[in-house]
Amino acid sequence: MTLDGNDIRILQILQDNGRLSFRQIAERVKLSVPTVSSKVSNLERLGAIRGYRADLDTERLGEVSAVVTIKARPSDLPMVAERFKDDDEVRQLFFLSSGRLMLICTFTGTHLINDFAARLGNIPEIVEYDIASVIGVAKEEDRASVVPGLQAVMPCQQCGRQVSDRPLRTRDGPNDVYLCSPACMNVYLGGAMPK
Ligand SMILES: [Zn+2]
Repeated sequence: MTLDGNDIRILQILQDNGRLSFRQIAERVKLSVPTVSSKVSNLERLGAIRGYRADLDTERLGEVSAVVTIKARPSDLPMVAERFKDDDEVRQLFFLSSGRLMLICTFTGTHLINDFAARLGNIPEIVEYDIASVIGVAKEEDRASVVPGLQAVMPCQQCGRQVSDRPLRTRDGPNDVYLCSPACMNVYLGGAMPK
């Protein structure tokens, strides 16, 4: 679903400062407050905006980060990832196209990096790993890069395929549900509503 120029502007403004009021945003984008409010709700419903939170300074909090790459058999990767999913120390966990996992971890002390490395060594499915602590931060931004022409990518609630530019929409309680085709809409409604 293509986002319009004002959506993009609003995303840029909110990515920069999530605490601005609708009124403050409206002044900047020259739209009415209700329009901004409905655009923001729509971006939230689409999942383009995941949430609003404080941007904490890791180093100022006395913490140290490490970048870890893990190699395992492709069939083992999901299971290996599962082991780390609930670890507070593992801040980001990516599946890479190279068939590896990449973890960005943050620890409250350097010695904990060694403990973590020892843990990696004890996981039989891990074929190979590399762990290095971060010794300087040259740039650190949110992963989303807000540029003109962005599209919101959504899976069809019924079949999981990516919804095209003109999704069909229905409601499930308070939530919007997006579907890719009339066929999926029929199946979804058939399953959702008791006869
Ligand atoms: Zn579908």
